[in-house]
Amino acid sequence: MKIYFLSTGFGSVAKGLFVQGAGMKSVQFPVLSVLIERDNGLVLFDTGIGTRIEEEMRPPIYWGNLFFHRFVMRTRFNPRHDALIYQLQRLGFKPADVRNVIISHLHWDHAGGMRDFPHAHFFVSRREWEFVSNLRLGQLFKNAFIKQQFHEQGLEIELIETDQRKPFKNFSASYDLFGDGSMVLVDLPGHSPGLMGMCLTMPSGRRFFFSADTFYFPEGLEQRMPKSKLMQTLVSEGPEVKASIEQVYKLMRTEPDLEIVGSHDYRLPGRYDLAPKYYS
Ligand SMILES: [Zn+2]
Repeated sequence: MKIYFLSTGFGSVAKGLFVQGAGMKSVQFPVLSVLIERDNGLVLFDTGIGTRIEEEMRPPIYWGNLFFHRFVMRTRFNPRHDALIYQLQRLGFKPADVRNVIISHLHWDHAGGMRDFPHAHFFVSRREWEFVSNLRLGQLFKNAFIKQQFHEQGLEIELIETDQRKPFKNFSASYDLFGDGSMVLVDLPGHSPGLMGMCLTMPSGRRFFFSADTFYFPEGLEQRMPKSKLMQTLVSEGPEVKASIEQVYKLMRTEPDLEIVGSHDYRLPGRYDLAPKYYS
């Protein structure tokens, strides 16, 4: 098994937007997707920003997102170079080699590449899906979802729920993706209602926990500092996020060898090399 860390572009933001009280210094952060190469095919954890971002953010419907993306978060992303399908191509893979995709949550910077993988089987939390399905247009923007990224596109989407009969570490329920314990999903609700984290155990014994957007920057986990009130409002973060951060914090304290990786951690590109480098 090999894993590759990929970033679909980079954003930069005033640190205090992502960590309460952290000041106005601008910090660059990645938009993470993880590619897992298994014997029987490729698996992706999140699809990042995709090739159609420009049309997806076309005003007026998504003017708010567009504004955010240009002026608050200042995302640097070239759809024809940074989208995953092109990054995979440079690694020697075809989009059709990706058999399974886990979507941690349906926010635009995680579900953005779904339509670039029309042959893949997607795993999405039922809770997340039902929440998004019931939102009206204005609410979608407020919650950082872009419905056309995943709705009614003929994509093969399996809605999943964690199983209360299968507690996992300090989580009361889990979903074992392939039934072999190598990739186990757990609920981390709050940032979005159905956000799922994933524990990956490699044959080498190396273990990762991908916590997606439960916290953005390391201070959000290590000091358990919440995101700014503005950010919480912008993405409609729910109060459950506090308990989810506690869950990940507990993991960090009890299992120091477990490598906890957030999707927008500014330390990530220093901690790991991005693709083409891989880890096994
Ligand atoms: Zn995100």
